[in-house]
Amino acid sequence: MLVPIRSANPPSGQAPTAYSEPPVPPARESEPRVLKPRRAAPADAVRPTRAEVNLQALRHNLGVVKRHAGSAHVWAVLKADGYGHGAPAVARTLERAGADGFCVALLEEAIELRDAGILLPIMVMGGYYGGAHAELVHRGLVPVVYDLAQIEGFARLVRSGAASGPIDVHVKIDTGMARLGVTLETLAPFAAALARFPEVRVRGLMTHLACADALEPAETTEQMVRFDEATALLARHGVRPTVRHAANSAALLRGQALLDAARPGVALFGVAPRSVGGATRGTPLGVGLRPVMSVRSEVIDIRDVAQGAPVGYGALWRAPRPSRIATIPMGYADGLSRQLSNRGHVLIRGKRAPIVGAVSMDMSMLDVTDLPGVSVRDEAVVLGSQEGPLGKDCVSADEIADHAGTIPWEVLTSISRRVPRFYREP
Ligand SMILES: *Cc1c(COP(=O)(O)O)cnc(C)c1O
Repeated sequence: MLVPIRSANPPSGQAPTAYSEPPVPPARESEPRVLKPRRAAPADAVRPTRAEVNLQALRHNLGVVKRHAGSAHVWAVLKADGYGHGAPAVARTLERAGADGFCVALLEEAIELRDAGILLPIMVMGGYYGGAHAELVHRGLVPVVYDLAQIEGFARLVRSGAASGPIDVHVKIDTGMARLGVTLETLAPFAAALARFPEVRVRGLMTHLACADALEPAETTEQMVRFDEATALLARHGVRPTVRHAANSAALLRGQALLDAARPGVALFGVAPRSVGGATRGTPLGVGLRPVMSVRSEVIDIRDVAQGAPVGYGALWRAPRPSRIATIPMGYADGLSRQLSNRGHVLIRGKRAPIVGAVSMDMSMLDVTDLPGVSVRDEAVVLGSQEGPLGKDCVSADEIADHAGTIPWEVLTSISRRVPRFYREP
């Protein structure tokens, strides 16, 4: 059996030795242990491939988002490690810059933020607590709930004296996403049953929008009508949440569904959701957002190949002319999608070089035949902008998403933990 050296969950009784961290008190039988993932610290980084996170741009984007939000609170969504930017550093910056709270998908993500010293309210949207209700309450986190078993779990804590009540929760309503949330059909019995759990208080009511970035606002309008119906139904049962929230980045930038709070994610990282499905695809919804992450590597090798020579796995590209090929140490295991094989571009010396052949796990090849003067150690920009002797250009998350057949959200969250993050305060 293979034993991972850097296991985050060492065999019981044995202290972790491969990395240093404060000793973890032994978990009691009844307490589920929350595993703490970690990435290579920048100090460990030898490879030239790295992600730079511009905290000044992040603060700027928070300002743009806050202006759009008006009087609504801004709860920054930092799931998936802050959309790949490193949630603790992003949260620290946004906390100081005036965000009103944070939202994450997982309890583990919330705990990582509390461990990093974040004091603002943190909402756990995914709704799975796996029996760790006590940990959630003791960490001062705000749970999203959508079924009675979850509510019962929190009520039991108060009844047993393990927590003092009432415990505040936000109830999620499914208004047309068919993902999570109480449906309108089942809301009446749900609301009636809430009376059995006075230990739990419904402070917030939320829903999630499926089509906020659509060309036509009709779907969103319809979802919001259902959300109002749900609100009224709950009120008839004496349940009156003080905070209602629905808007994601797209809705917020459009000024739609701005209730008491908004939950923007991707806009904070400088991506303006584009309207989809129509002639104006590509029209950004928000102006003035600045990209926060850039991903840079270096040319590590250059070779000249003859006309007709194959490049990369499967010989997916053959040189149509005598060509100069540069290799960069970034591949699909770093988050450079294999869909970019023979499609994407990387910037060198301020100019675009096409990715040629298959993107492999750790490396990719570029055709630099038309870029005079490229040499080993030249910077290669995979995501972001570059200025050099040959010009000035930018590869955006939108562009990469188009080439890879996906959305910018996936481009950002795909940059893997093997790529160390460096934080810049220009
Ligand atoms: C991810 C998420 C958001 C943020 O969406 P963006 O489009 O990135 O702004 C808001 N609410 C919920 C429930 C989410 O899952």
